[in-house]
Amino acid sequence: MGFTPERATEQLRWERVMAAVPDTAMMREYHYAMTRAPHHAGTEENYRLALYLRDLWDGFGFETEMVRYDILVPWPVDLSLRLVHPEVIELSVTEPPIPEDPDSNVEGALPGMAAYVASGQAEGDVIYANYGRIGDYRLLDGMGVSLEGKIVLVRYGGTPGQMRGMKVREAANRGAAGVVISSDPEDDGYVRGDVYPEGRWRPWEGIQRGSFLDVPIYPGDPLTPFEPSIPGVARIPLEDAENVQKIPVQPISYGEALKILEHMGGDVVPTEWQGGLPLAYHLGPGPARIEMDVQYDYQERPVWNVFGKVVGSVEPEKFVLAGGHRDSWVLGARDPTSGAVSLLETARGVAAAVAEGFQPRRSIVFGSWGGEDFFLLGSTEWGEQFAEELQENMVVYINRESYTSGNWSAAGNHSLERFMIETSKDAPHPEAATLFDAWQGQQPGEALRLGALGSGSDYTVFLDHLGVPSLNVGYGSANGIYHSLYDTYYYYQRFGDPGYRYGVAQADMVGRMVMRLANAEILPFDFSGAARVIAGYVDELVMLDENGLLRNELRAIGAANATMRVAATETNGILATLLDGSAAALEQNRNAVDQVNALIMRAEREMIDERGLWRRPWYRNLVYAPGYYEGYAAKTLPGVREPMEDGAWDVARTQAGMLVEALERVTVALTEAGMVARAATMRVIS
Ligand SMILES: [Zn+2]
Repeated sequence: MGFTPERATEQLRWERVMAAVPDTAMMREYHYAMTRAPHHAGTEENYRLALYLRDLWDGFGFETEMVRYDILVPWPVDLSLRLVHPEVIELSVTEPPIPEDPDSNVEGALPGMAAYVASGQAEGDVIYANYGRIGDYRLLDGMGVSLEGKIVLVRYGGTPGQMRGMKVREAANRGAAGVVISSDPEDDGYVRGDVYPEGRWRPWEGIQRGSFLDVPIYPGDPLTPFEPSIPGVARIPLEDAENVQKIPVQPISYGEALKILEHMGGDVVPTEWQGGLPLAYHLGPGPARIEMDVQYDYQERPVWNVFGKVVGSVEPEKFVLAGGHRDSWVLGARDPTSGAVSLLETARGVAAAVAEGFQPRRSIVFGSWGGEDFFLLGSTEWGEQFAEELQENMVVYINRESYTSGNWSAAGNHSLERFMIETSKDAPHPEAATLFDAWQGQQPGEALRLGALGSGSDYTVFLDHLGVPSLNVGYGSANGIYHSLYDTYYYYQRFGDPGYRYGVAQADMVGRMVMRLANAEILPFDFSGAARVIAGYVDELVMLDENGLLRNELRAIGAANATMRVAATETNGILATLLDGSAAALEQNRNAVDQVNALIMRAEREMIDERGLWRRPWYRNLVYAPGYYEGYAAKTLPGVREPMEDGAWDVARTQAGMLVEALERVTVALTEAGMVARAATMRVIS
């Protein structure tokens, strides 16, 4: 896909050179080196690791660059949490080392902190609110339970994928004084299996740290929305930062949560709210009463991104970026270092191909972001700084962070679905003939699909703010050490990817994706496939529109999408004919080919509307966004869907109009690409 037959053969030969490189021993060596000390955003160690990567990439022969941002990052000063009634118990906010795991005994580990919450004290009776999802709070609203002045106890997780911050925003909106959040053994502890160090699941003392930034409003530095955190850019006052939580929050382990739940009265919770701790959960309020005092030091701290580049031979300004973050909460062997070292092996493989003469048409850039875990700091600020340039020149962003052995998962723009599936047929798998076979084996009899991207990692600014198509791919399985002290090299050797077999296979697949996207004669996008997926989303909206209040608007969207599909299918056909010809003939039509590629790139950009989504203008992609109440899970056609769900019909109508216009712009770009390609085909044939 994207190559003439002769260039396709050549391409496969270069990919084999790359694929011979990724190696388990090298992965282990890099992994060990990068997990020796805590390296959260703003630390010396995180900077040191940036230099480590830069030096490695220099050694690979890449052009390297480091970029710095000064971003408001909170570090904890004092965190305390205490049950004050009916008995007094000091609750722990730190995790003890585990004797079997030498790495868990480390200096400088952050305690169980919550980033971007209010400093301050709070005291109140406790109410249990399950996962703290919008549906959970609405159930409490319906029961007449007031959160005013209360401390809300919620658990992490819940489906659809919910980020922490929204659990707190909605509690604060209902007047809560503070939030205490814990894991529940039902979700990632002993209910699932043996706990660490015997097994992979969360031990009684394990705490999930995390960022509570209100990401669906905007990610990155809270003080510089829409702008990069560089010298000369004005910062807004912290009180005005809409994405910082307004009440104090404290994460604890489920072992500590049990001490609160033991003292809860009131009604027994609804069945689905019952977690895995050995008692019946009660709603409260009280008699358990909590006193919390959390103090953070908010400072501008340096956050570094590092890049390593292979310069393209034909269109050097155009580039494919494969990146992932480097910072972690503590040692971060899984999150994110596993992904970083797998990507390093991809980079080493690409470097080997380049050394033997591989010259991609477009540039290939490898990137390492600082400050993802506080929430997408380095990638967001970079995306905001170079917005125009990236919209013009960045072909695709491929995100690679944490991975472990397990199932393959892939999400991203559906115009790249066919490309992903085709590429997987040439990629290896530790237990199957190809990745494609294994992927198909995960869901026998079903068509392979890309998931829709919401948020949760560094693709957010590219996809949602700039309209640069993005992919988030990798192997993975559930674990119980997420964001804890126990996410260590020692854990990873036993329960992550023992032997790094999946890491090597993944390095191979990502290498092929990067090399194909950088070297394709015609960019391998398929908007006909995207239109088919969008048609499914429109059907969902029709179902949602029970009273037909948006009937005409939804019809117009469906029609615009159908027109786009016709144009895309026709253009696909013309491009296929063009690629059936000889590579030399294509080269003679260099101008036309460049123009076609530019139009294909423009097509995805056209899904952006500068006016942005309802309640959050930073989000401008009309097809994909993280849900306003979810934060992680995607809402598709969000501009129309979310106001429909909340009954804001006028907003939905306006956004429907914007979506129709966007689909029409895509159709124009694709039609134009088809016309230019057809003219070129005639020249090739005559
Ligand atoms: Zn991560």
